Amino acid sequence: MVQAAQRVLHFTESVIREVTRWADESGALNLAQGFPDYDPPALVLQAAQRAIASGENQYSVTWGDPRLREAIARKVSRFWGVPIDPQRHITVTCGATEGVAASLLAVLNPGDEVVLFEPFYENYLPVSHLAGATAKFVRLAPPDYRIEEDALRAAITPRTRALVLNTPGNPTGHVLSAEELDAVRQVCLEHDLILITDEIYEHFIYDGRRHIPPATLPDMAERTISVGGLSKTLAITGWRVGYVIAPPELSNAVRKVHDFLTVGAPSPLQVAAAEALNALPDSYYTELAHTYQAKRDRFVSLLQQAGFRCRAPEGAYYVMVEAPMLAGLDDTSAARELIRRVGIAAVPGSSFYETKEASTPGRVPLLRFAFCKKDETLALVGERLAEMARAS
Ligand code: GLN
Repeated sequence: MVQAAQRVLHFTESVIREVTRWADESGALNLAQGFPDYDPPALVLQAAQRAIASGENQYSVTWGDPRLREAIARKVSRFWGVPIDPQRHITVTCGATEGVAASLLAVLNPGDEVVLFEPFYENYLPVSHLAGATAKFVRLAPPDYRIEEDALRAAITPRTRALVLNTPGNPTGHVLSAEELDAVRQVCLEHDLILITDEIYEHFIYDGRRHIPPATLPDMAERTISVGGLSKTLAITGWRVGYVIAPPELSNAVRKVHDFLTVGAPSPLQVAAAEALNALPDSYYTELAHTYQAKRDRFVSLLQQAGFRCRAPEGAYYVMVEAPMLAGLDDTSAARELIRRVGIAAVPGSSFYETKEASTPGRVPLLRFAFCKKDETLALVGERLAEMARAS
């Protein structure tokens, strides 16, 4: 009998992609997977068409087209207020997803422990397993999802090698405060840990909050691997253009993994992304945050009017809700039921937890909705949810 390797035997399909399949099969509105249902800015599209037409179709330098690394360095240096060297600090990856994977594979040894904050974006756990590491979880409690220093310290052992942070957070929407980040910093410095940060939602931040890149904290640049990308900010999730910023020794390790995993991100799209980053003014990013804050406010009130219990997220573009009208169902059944009743797809909350009590029947199911959608889509969702509320 042929059999797959041990390391993949216990993997399940990504729940986000699975629910997306259910949505596609049933024609439901997909508020499960976090992708915009509108086009990127016209200049982004035109830049890609030009790049393909002008012969940018072969491999780029494996760690990223120099034009894109320079554009990223310029933008990140401006936003972070510290110089970033495109030659030594930046690796372009196939999305932030590969960025996180290459980073974990580059620093974790078999038997090492990696700390994940639960609820966590579902990729972090399987990738930790691919690296042969064991995950330790620090539970963040709703509604604030704050990092408590005591809970963090309790998860650290002599085997701990790295922590994975995601701010603004998916699925919680929590934006880590200066105090929380200081606690993380203290722990990293005391225990000589590597910090891997997923900052893909850096520009989706509301109510005047500020994104603090953990690498900019005192003494943290030398032990932080920062992962970012253009998928969400430029509405190009299918292009797979992300990046990793790290000190030279860690960059070299990430580059080796990246080279053997994928060789490189799509060349013409790297060239186009460079052009877009250079062309877009800073106001693009502030307007993005404003537009999304308005989407958030509207969507949260639609959800609350329909009887879901939730709080407005501080950042990113997801809302975690309790669905009392579907009580008694586990959250996977609740997600299916929502598709059946009103043609709206959401992600079962349990897929962001390792401890599955979140989906125990009898409790109120948890669902995650993505609101990175056109106003027309959100209006349609509002109508369907209101109909469901009237019918129950
Ligand atoms: N990051 C997005 C989400 O959480 C998309 C996930 C994916 O399918 N790659 O929905």
